[in-house]
Amino acid sequence: MFGLREHVAAVAAALPPGVELYYAAKANPDAEVLRAVAAHVHGFEVASGGEFAHVREAVPGKPIAFGGPGKTPSELAEAVGSKVHRLHVESEQETHRVAALARATGRTVDVLLRANPPIELPGTGPAALTMGGLATPFGMDPEVLDRCAKLLADEPRVRLRGLHAHLASGLGPDDLGEVAARLLAWADAWAARNGVDLRELNVGGGMAVDYATPEARFDWAAYGKALGGLVRPGGPVLRVEPGRAVAAYHGWYVTDVLDVKHSRGQAFAVVRGGTHHLRTPVARGHAQPFAVLARDSWPYAWPRPSTSGEPVTVVGQLCTPKDVLAARVPVTGAVRAGDRLVFAMAGAYAWNISHRDFLMHEPPTFHYLAGAGGRT
Ligand SMILES: *Cc1c(COP(=O)(O)O)cnc(C)c1O
Repeated sequence: MFGLREHVAAVAAALPPGVELYYAAKANPDAEVLRAVAAHVHGFEVASGGEFAHVREAVPGKPIAFGGPGKTPSELAEAVGSKVHRLHVESEQETHRVAALARATGRTVDVLLRANPPIELPGTGPAALTMGGLATPFGMDPEVLDRCAKLLADEPRVRLRGLHAHLASGLGPDDLGEVAARLLAWADAWAARNGVDLRELNVGGGMAVDYATPEARFDWAAYGKALGGLVRPGGPVLRVEPGRAVAAYHGWYVTDVLDVKHSRGQAFAVVRGGTHHLRTPVARGHAQPFAVLARDSWPYAWPRPSTSGEPVTVVGQLCTPKDVLAARVPVTGAVRAGDRLVFAMAGAYAWNISHRDFLMHEPPTFHYLAGAGGRT
């Protein structure tokens, strides 16, 4: 996978001893992607029975953490029965269910309780999605966590190894480091109050990815340094589980300009495909960065539709005004019917979150590019 292996190797190298790296499969569960990152991550985070089965098959033997609100009884039974590495428990009922399953099957299961701790998040700008301390379907408020800890104290087969909290997305390394510090301080106090031996603290994913600056990268060295300052002898293992910041940069969506039109003073480039292939820009409300690959041949007798020197709105083939990949973006040079557009940063939350059956257009085809040394 072109560049992905090197990128995830660099991420792993930036994290100090005592910090584990999991890849959140929901960002891009493509089996080639999973295999490319596998050598450099400690494990994978999954959030459904489907992802659980898929990841086990694609990268057999790698530790898997299974989270997500609303696990079905059969998903929980599958997780307990097949010895998931960590089960992230998201509610009081789920705690009861897991305990009952462990008792009924005689299996042991290692769990983290997912917390919704009352900590303030620093620097929550417009790009940040706040998930901590507010009303949320994810995880449990502190008083519920207290009850779960009591419940599990009498369940030897359910080993409570610590806490999990995925609180924010879109934060930079300093803010995210500060979140981890506050989380650890809060988790230490919670564990002491509840007589829990805090062996692990999963501080989640959500590392910033800036679609307006495709060459920018989350500063993993700075974040690793911040986390290193929190690792202490005999203290909990810290775990991070990024998705977007691992996979976003190594996927491209390549498509053709079918037509160029002007309407009421605005230029529109209509491309083959659209947001049913690449939902990322509408899901986040950004312009997906792209480059124009000029193709000079124009075999037709009529004038070639084109635009230059003005902002362009790139839309897809869907019969909805929401099918916009990039709105009113300046372009250097021309965009003409028959040219090719290459959208960058299409490696995460792209094809796999798209409403692929809407309007029954053809799906995209997939090509895996070889990196240095010919490895795919
Ligand atoms: C989605 C998710 C992640 C990954 O988030 P990114 O923003 O892709 O890094 C990690 N952990 C949990 C619990 C999630 O729901």
